[in-house]
Amino acid sequence: MLEIKGLRVKLEEEDKEILKGVDLTVEPGRVHAIMGPNGSGKSTLSYVLSGREGYEVTDGSATLDGEDLLDLEPEERAALGLFLAFQYPVEIPGVGNMTFLRTAVNAQRKARGKEEMNATDFLKLIRAKAKDLKIDAEMLKRPVNVGFSGGEKKRNEILQMAMLEPKMCILDETDSGLDVDAMKLVADGVNALRDAGRGFLVITHYQRLLDHIKPDVVHIMSDGRIIKSGGPELAIEVEENGYADIKAEVTA
Ligand code: ADP
Ligand code: MG
Ligand code: MG
Repeated sequence: MLEIKGLRVKLEEEDKEILKGVDLTVEPGRVHAIMGPNGSGKSTLSYVLSGREGYEVTDGSATLDGEDLLDLEPEERAALGLFLAFQYPVEIPGVGNMTFLRTAVNAQRKARGKEEMNATDFLKLIRAKAKDLKIDAEMLKRPVNVGFSGGEKKRNEILQMAMLEPKMCILDETDSGLDVDAMKLVADGVNALRDAGRGFLVITHYQRLLDHIKPDVVHIMSDGRIIKSGGPELAIEVEENGYADIKAEVTA
C-alpha cells in the first residue's frame, strides 16, 4: 500500500539534503514505527508525504496503492486515503469542528465517487464516534482546535481519523511531549482503528508510545536514512542502549 523507494529530499531554500534515500513499505493491516534521534528527518518524511511546501524531492518515489503521491495536492492525497496527524494540529478560527469534519468527509466521499452524506446520517455518525472517544458535544461545535487543551487536540485528531476512515495513517508524535493520558488516548484511538485494510506509520522519539501501540515493524532513522529495521524488540533495544549503539553496529 504505502511504498517509498529511494526517496531523497532537500530543502527548497537551502542546498541541504535531509532525506538521503528512504526505502519503506507499509502493508495493509500493519503498524510500522519509525524511531530515531532528533534531527534525523522523521518529521520531514511525514511533511513530504503530506505535500507540505518548502521541500524538493530530488529522487525516488512514494505511492499509495500504486498511485504516485508526490505529484498530488494535499487534498488529493487525503482523498486517496492518506491521513496525517501532526505534532501541532492547526487551529481554524471561525470554522466549527463539526462543519469542518462534514466538509472533509464529503470531499473525500466525492473523490471516491460516493454520494454526500446527509446531515442526519452525518450527525448520527459523528455522535457515535465522539461518544466512543469520550468527546463531548460542546467540543464538536467549537472552532477547530481553537483554545483546545493538548488532550482535546489529540482527541480531536483521533476523531478526524475515525471519521475519515483512511487507508493509511501517519502520526508524527515526535517532540510533542505527550503526557501519559494523551499518549494513551492516541494509542487507544490507533488500536481501535487497527484493521486488516489499514496501515499505520507511527513516528515517535520515545519507546513509551510503543508500549501502548504494539508495532509490527520498527525502523530506526538516522541522518536521513533508515539504518535498521526489526520487530518490536528493536524499540526496547533503543530504550535500553540508545541510538549510538545501533549506529555503531550498522557502520561497523
Ligand atoms: P526529526 O523529526 O527526526 O527530529 P526533522 O525532519 O524535523 O527531524 O529535521 C531533519 C533535519 O532537517 C534537521 O537537521 C532540521 O534542522 C532540518 N530541517 C528540516 N526542515 C527544515 C527547514 N524548513 N529549514 C531548515 N532546516 C530544516
Ligand atoms: Mg525533531
Ligand atoms: Mg520530528
